[in-house]
Amino acid sequence: MSRPAALTESLLDELRARVRASTDATYTTTAVFTGGDLATMPESTVSDVHTAYEQAARAQKPWAALDVRARLQVFERFHALLLRERETLADLLQAETGKARRDAFEELSEPALVTSYYLRKAAKLLRPKARAGLLPGAIKAVELRQPKGVVGIISPWNYPFALALGDLIPALVAGNAVVLKPDSQTPLSPAYGVDLLYRAGLPEDLLQVVLGDGPTIGGAVVDTCDYLGFTGSSRTGKLIAEQAGRRLVGCSLELGGKNPMVILDDANIAGTAKSAVRGCFANAGQLCLSLERIYVHDSIFDRFAAAFVAETGKLRQATGYDYGADLGSLTSQRALKTVSEHVDDARAKGATVLAGGRPRPDLGPYFYEPTVLTDVTPDMLCHRAETFGPVVSLYPFTTEDEAVELANDTEYGLNASVFGRDRTRANRVAARLRAGTVNINDGYASAFGSTDAPMGGMGASGLGRRHGAEGLLRFTEVQTVAAQRMKLLDPPNWVPYGLYSRMLATSLRLMKKLRLR
Ligand code: NAD
Repeated sequence: MSRPAALTESLLDELRARVRASTDATYTTTAVFTGGDLATMPESTVSDVHTAYEQAARAQKPWAALDVRARLQVFERFHALLLRERETLADLLQAETGKARRDAFEELSEPALVTSYYLRKAAKLLRPKARAGLLPGAIKAVELRQPKGVVGIISPWNYPFALALGDLIPALVAGNAVVLKPDSQTPLSPAYGVDLLYRAGLPEDLLQVVLGDGPTIGGAVVDTCDYLGFTGSSRTGKLIAEQAGRRLVGCSLELGGKNPMVILDDANIAGTAKSAVRGCFANAGQLCLSLERIYVHDSIFDRFAAAFVAETGKLRQATGYDYGADLGSLTSQRALKTVSEHVDDARAKGATVLAGGRPRPDLGPYFYEPTVLTDVTPDMLCHRAETFGPVVSLYPFTTEDEAVELANDTEYGLNASVFGRDRTRANRVAARLRAGTVNINDGYASAFGSTDAPMGGMGASGLGRRHGAEGLLRFTEVQTVAAQRMKLLDPPNWVPYGLYSRMLATSLRLMKKLRLR
């Protein structure tokens, strides 16, 4: 059970070879289902990060000089390879995260969707765009999209493949090189993704991988890159924003959440309970978009709670490299400790545990039951802090205004969800929620899977967006090139400047009137 069949010694050697590391220093990752050893990996030094940056910078110039359509050919082949190798990828993902296989499959679908989206859209998004010049006919202005250079990508352990590949693909498509630092516990699936990209024809050195301690090796990535794409906790995101700010280097930050679901009085109770189970417990709740707070109209609170608890009770939690389990393990002892603390604290302070509420060491060292709480009060840890595990609290509300106020009572603003039959009302409530994505009659997948629409957080949930035009254009510098075809901007020598300024004022009035400017 420790190691899946796909993780042979020769595959491990291939993955290790993808890591830039100049010394013999190594560390060992954990096989999450058992707590045993999974893989010994090379550890990079700060000087390796510098070498990675320099080599990537050298490879970036000819890559950026290619027409975007030539660059896209690599991703066309990558898409096919990714789907062909999906079972190997799912094995690696399960082994290093402990997630259920269906969550692993959902995860690897994300970079596939992102790749096919940018295959269709990137050429149009990146091509030069004519802009209205100051004087029509006399000045021609064009907006160009230049790559940033070398983009640093720092990614977390919960979706180690999707959150690394899903960001580094648009960065490469835009003409950048990339230095990737995955979380130390989960290097295998991103390294395999990097391997697939090279097999698809990515030029040597364009995509570098470094591994090691977050502040040291991640810190060196922030200190060298020309732009940073970070996904992780809000705490680290704030440190990174400060560090990037000192160098005036831009960054996108995809951070934490404490995501609310609002269930209006006309919601279909059975259907909502089924969807809520997925929205709360997918990836054992270790999903930035997971719903941890459910606000239910008081007229249907008891019926919804009963249906939700019944659906939660049907979830099969197990280890195994097959599609048998609905729910897998938490990924680490640290995650188990936080989840246990949140539930024990709530219970001790008077919360009611409607379902779950216990670790499951009989299944594996980090398993925790899907847990439903009610009577949660503001003094409890799980009321405001992100639990990042399979724990959700139910709260009643009476009016729409109250539901909106409660849902928005958080420093975060990542994802939200509204359930109700009346679409107009549900849309109205959605627009009042302070969250980067709001799903109607769904937990998170509708917005997450809609790769044409931007995705990201407000408030403490981050800066910038992935997916859509923004998800690609964040990795570019916008440059305006304006060409003057006739000498019109300076007054001729024989016109006194006072007269010229009056002429200019008249022209400005006229241009506004004629809606030219
Ligand atoms: P984390 O911030 O501890 O670590 C994330 C990554 O940053 C890791 O690779 C880590 O090694 C690195 N890192 C840590 N300290 C660093 C530093 N000082 N400088 C540079 N790099 C550093 O987060 P985590 O606990 O691994 O991930 C879980 C968090 O990520 C949760 O809060 C979750 O909500 C959030 N998350 C957000 C999204 C999103 O899209 N918004 C997606 C997934 C996870």
